[in-house]
Amino acid sequence: MPNYYVNRNAQSNGDHEVHTTTGCSNPANPENRIALGNHLTCTTAVQKARQYYSQVNGCYYCTKACHTT
Ligand SMILES: [Zn+2]
Repeated sequence: MPNYYVNRNAQSNGDHEVHTTTGCSNPANPENRIALGNHLTCTTAVQKARQYYSQVNGCYYCTKACHTT
């Protein structure tokens, strides 16, 4: 089950991206990560990230199933 985090820093479009802790080619700096815990799918990880930020998106590289354009 992947371990997820959300980036404290928003992208230029305002999205806070959700990433897995391993296997991302475009990760956030460790100090900018808010841990979201282990999730079976990215859907619940994104839901948890919404408790911190209203504008959340899955990372294009590691959480593509939850990435929207
Ligand atoms: Zn990522």
